Amino acid sequence: MSQITDWVEIRRNKFKLLFIFGIIAVLMITGISCLLTPKEGFILTVDNKRLAVVENEAIVIDAIDELKAQKSQETGFVYKEVTNKVKVEMVKGLKDEPVGKEEIIKILALKLDWVVQATALTINGSPKMNVATLEQAEEILNKLKEEFTVDTEDKELLALNFEEEVTLTSADVKVEELVDLALAVTLILNGTDKIETYKVKKGDTLWDIAYANNMTVNELKEANLDLKKDVLSIGQELKLVKTEPMVHVVADVQLTKEENIPFNTKYISDSDLWRGQSSVKEAGKSGKQRVTYKIVEKNGVEIDREILEKQVLEEPKTKVVYQGTKVMVASRGGGGDGQLAWPLRGRITSGYGWRRLGYHTGMDIDGVTGDPIFAAGSGTVISAGWAGNYGYCIDIDHGDGLLTRYAHLSKMDVKISQKVSRGDLIGRVGNTGRSTGSHLHFEVRINGVHNNPIKYLD
Ligand SMILES: [Zn+2]
Repeated sequence: MSQITDWVEIRRNKFKLLFIFGIIAVLMITGISCLLTPKEGFILTVDNKRLAVVENEAIVIDAIDELKAQKSQETGFVYKEVTNKVKVEMVKGLKDEPVGKEEIIKILALKLDWVVQATALTINGSPKMNVATLEQAEEILNKLKEEFTVDTEDKELLALNFEEEVTLTSADVKVEELVDLALAVTLILNGTDKIETYKVKKGDTLWDIAYANNMTVNELKEANLDLKKDVLSIGQELKLVKTEPMVHVVADVQLTKEENIPFNTKYISDSDLWRGQSSVKEAGKSGKQRVTYKIVEKNGVEIDREILEKQVLEEPKTKVVYQGTKVMVASRGGGGDGQLAWPLRGRITSGYGWRRLGYHTGMDIDGVTGDPIFAAGSGTVISAGWAGNYGYCIDIDHGDGLLTRYAHLSKMDVKISQKVSRGDLIGRVGNTGRSTGSHLHFEVRINGVHNNPIKYLD
């Protein structure tokens, strides 16, 4: 090999090296510039707020669809569309790398507002609430009806309707406007979900609770119509405000039950008995009947009742009572003028006038405590009460200065200023006051002066 050829060889190798270096340099510059220069790309905005860099619009549409399916699955609602402004825009100068679909879903889950398919419950033409599905709405209506369904076994439900016109229509609403079943029932039953309640503690009475909450017992009862017989149990929750249900469940109920038929009492005059006396000849007995009622209940409270059918199973037996008509007649031939009737039939144990103990201002007629005493004549009771030695004592003014007195009574059946007729029951034989055994002390006074009663008796 010559020197020249060597030199040429060297030059060639130099160029080769330069060329390789050049290429490396270009590659490096492009690479660095690639990393440093801002790029063009897509960003996702929701309601004009930039949320993420994305690869393209399709991935966002996909993400929303997946999110919709996810939410629908989780809640059982039918998610329909979003109400936000969702945009994918091409912009320059992006520095971040686009995020993947899962990340987009996570971001959107927090940002999107959804419209869901709902069933609107309308009462008397005004929309009241939205629930997720028609089935749920129907379940609510059934629950309301159940709430007031008659529980007694002998009652038969004929019809169950709402007093108000309740309609169900489909509607698209924001997801937050949906109410769940329990809340819906509460709202409809009470007209509000803000019910103040009180939990019954040991020793509480209705009155205590009402007083402590600035209510009357009646108001408390009105707020708790289901409260039966005023009986409270510990832990029971009482409403403290009267609630007004949005709907009223009207139930037509048929009730068949056996009832007693009360017996009548027939009075037969009996001249063998003294007036005011009576004796039962035949005891009465209630009958039995089977009655079928049609009852209308509104929210569990009976508002109407009519008899559909009545079948007598057993006739009642009339009670028969003999009623005395006999008026006092002289049993002993008193020899009086007959102006007065005998107030008590019995032996005269002590007559009027002087006796061993002193002057006797009346006559004593023997009797057993409880025996009836009758007015000796018609007049007005001018005194009936305790009178010292006389015990319980009645005075009757017969007019024309004539007065009769009945003393030592065990019971008084008349009151002061009561009008009585001859023969009326006025009291009972007793042993009150200064008396040594049950008897009637009977006095007749003319213008305030006692007289011998026997002169006036018939
Ligand atoms: Zn006497």
